[in-house]
Amino acid sequence: MMQAAPGGFLETVLAQFDQAANRLNLDPALRAVLSSTKRELTVNFPVRMDDGSVRIFTGHRVQHSQARGPAKGGIRYHPSVTLDEARALATLMTWKCAVTRLPFGGAKGAVACDPSKLSVGEIERLTRRFAAELEPIVGPDSDIPAPDLGTGAREMAWIMDTYSMHRGYSVPAVVTGKPIEIGGSEGRAEATGHGVALCVAEIARRRGLGWPGARVAVQGFGNVGGVTARRLAAMGCKVIAVSDVSGGVFRSDGLNLTSLARHVQEHGRVAEFPGSERIDNPALLALDCDVLVPAALEHQIVEKNADQVRAKVIVEGANGPLDEAADRVMADRGIVVVPDILANAGGVTVSYFEWVQDRDSYFWGESEVYDRLDKILLRAFDDVWRMAETHRTTLREAALLLAIDRVAAAVRLRGLYP
Ligand code: NAD
Repeated sequence: MMQAAPGGFLETVLAQFDQAANRLNLDPALRAVLSSTKRELTVNFPVRMDDGSVRIFTGHRVQHSQARGPAKGGIRYHPSVTLDEARALATLMTWKCAVTRLPFGGAKGAVACDPSKLSVGEIERLTRRFAAELEPIVGPDSDIPAPDLGTGAREMAWIMDTYSMHRGYSVPAVVTGKPIEIGGSEGRAEATGHGVALCVAEIARRRGLGWPGARVAVQGFGNVGGVTARRLAAMGCKVIAVSDVSGGVFRSDGLNLTSLARHVQEHGRVAEFPGSERIDNPALLALDCDVLVPAALEHQIVEKNADQVRAKVIVEGANGPLDEAADRVMADRGIVVVPDILANAGGVTVSYFEWVQDRDSYFWGESEVYDRLDKILLRAFDDVWRMAETHRTTLREAALLLAIDRVAAAVRLRGLYP
């Protein structure tokens, strides 16, 4: 079973599992299986840098479960990633796929690096070498990577190409989140943010928050935060603040997201957006607003700042942005949290569609993708909502109960081998 360092992300994920397992009365064998990772690979690999020197990078791929299908999960590039973080994220992927009823298990990959300090050539060599190192354990039937923090369609194209070169033929279904030209899906790039925005609309409707017109703050302006903010603004919300790693911008009557996106394209950060006030990340998390969307990193709202949150609702764009103590504070204060494994599941859902389309070599139009995505997410939202009402739990507890029960059923039915 996984052992977590105190206070870390993995400890939060394991504590959430334990609580749900207690409520489900899971037997000790199932508990042991589900609180262990199935397979872990750590590689230290050399990359030639532009100045001719060689640097060793460390990468991980963790497969938490394949009980419900091939393992699925992103690859993260970030300077401080650890094996424990990959274990926590892989575990969450298992629950996320189960809550949305996708036929996948959970995995996550990570390389400790700072892509902002590497050239494009260095990132490409690092990515291709990491892909080659992962080859024994990834594949369309075993483990299918996707983008996460610090990676995107470009990196997925390099991984797909490297894997295909070694096979001698194209294997698009080995990764998802690829560019459309080489087997990516319509809607994949926006899918996570689209799903987060859908969950914001759904919780606003169910909780009777002013809609449209809700005041929203978004932490993180990357793939998830940027798309979420743009979608919410297009739906008529007032996005009053957004931030990235360089800090944030605030405007009480709502930011113009189209101009802000242009500003970010030109300057590489949200800071100094004309017509806005500066705000730092801690202040953004404490803003008086209807909805707060943390969409950057894990453990941004923890015991010491949880009391400062003034939003009525938190919708988790990022994975694990609240620690366990913060979750308890929100429950005590009546602040509803739409959990990561539901709120940001749009990405993996369209990844599933991409994998299906690649295997069929038959591609769907954008409206078909979004229709199917909305159906899956709204059904999952409804399942979780009803579970929470029936068992008088938070939405996170309800989502975990549903997900863990489904994965446990698969493990039970498959039995032990031999
Ligand atoms: P990204 O790299 O595209 O963007 C991350 C954003 O967060 C950037 O704007 C960055 O500047 C900002 N950021 C980084 N450190 C920060 C800090 N300390 N304070 C404030 N902002 C900071 O990454 P992403 O793909 O948008 O992923 C964001 C989160 O969403 C992660 O937790 C990831 O696991 C999760 N997620 C991503 C996807 C996906 O499809 N990309 C799907 C599900 C969940």
